[in-house]
Amino acid sequence: MDIASPLLLWYDRHARTLPWRGSRDPYIIWVSEIIFQQTRIEQGTGYFLRFVGRFPDLHSLAAAGEDEVLRLWQGLGYYSRARNMLFTARFIVENHGGIFPSDFEMIRKLKGIGDYTASCIASICFGQVHAAVDGNVYRVLSRVIADKTAIDSTKGQVLFKRLAQELISRQRPGDFNEALMDLGATVCKPRSPECTICPLINLCRACELKIQGELPVKSPAIKKSASVMNYLLVMQGEEIVIQKRTGKGIWNGLYELPMIAGDLEPASIAAECQSVYGIKADNLSEIRRIKHVLTHAKLDIRFYAVTTVSKASIGNKSLLWVSGRNIVEYPFPKPLVDFLDSLSES
Ligand code: SF4
Repeated sequence: MDIASPLLLWYDRHARTLPWRGSRDPYIIWVSEIIFQQTRIEQGTGYFLRFVGRFPDLHSLAAAGEDEVLRLWQGLGYYSRARNMLFTARFIVENHGGIFPSDFEMIRKLKGIGDYTASCIASICFGQVHAAVDGNVYRVLSRVIADKTAIDSTKGQVLFKRLAQELISRQRPGDFNEALMDLGATVCKPRSPECTICPLINLCRACELKIQGELPVKSPAIKKSASVMNYLLVMQGEEIVIQKRTGKGIWNGLYELPMIAGDLEPASIAAECQSVYGIKADNLSEIRRIKHVLTHAKLDIRFYAVTTVSKASIGNKSLLWVSGRNIVEYPFPKPLVDFLDSLSES
């Protein structure tokens, strides 16, 4: 099957105009692919432009502090992506003289870079024949061959990667990868694919069988676990108390308010607050409750105001007092950014 010829003809006329399109700089392609792994183009483009505006190359990123990188990433979620990028930028500067490796296996071994991103960099920047298979590509290919293997199963991933590798243009591998992504994003959309304007209509088995809407197939969703997080807004004058999250859980490296986990009554939260943070919090009042959904968890986040605290009464050294003006210098997870923003507005 030759999908490359009609696809590339279509791409030459209909490629999306994107800020990183046309670049052959592996740093730029790397940043764009990492940002857009879990983020829609409309949401992530501003982040991309701010990121490469502040860190235009590997050296400037490698020299940055983690707080500043996370601050630029704030709101994008999946913060390990940003931490891995910082690690990898420093690694390339220290071990490869600041030159991005061009060998596929070396790219693939860099922290935070999987098969998909390595294939994008190798094909777009170095003209190597490596098919990059993302969600758009899975969708297009599963429809073209009308195959109902679950795209998130190991079997499906092997099947569609092998197929993409067979079909990729040997002359224009980077354009082929970008063309398939564009086709999936603009024509072969999840709902209502526009088959009548699709360059692959004459090859597409799902279109012939009229089963486009049944593809791609995914494994049944795993039930998300639910967690309750109780945040304590401890204020004195213009200052509030924050702490840095550590360990391997979500939002590692970001800042937050003092937090007690669990579906607890205010009296129990106050007791834990005293024992964990050394904060005497007798007058707790709930001021907001929000739901926040992550990939594997649903969070029930509750905010409590603690009204009877003085600086001297706080016994935990890991807590920081920060003024409202300086809070913007610290990276916070999205639900806390929204909460703190709403406080400054009210
Ligand atoms: S013909 Fe329709 S279903 Fe098939 S690839 Fe094109 S848009 Fe997708």
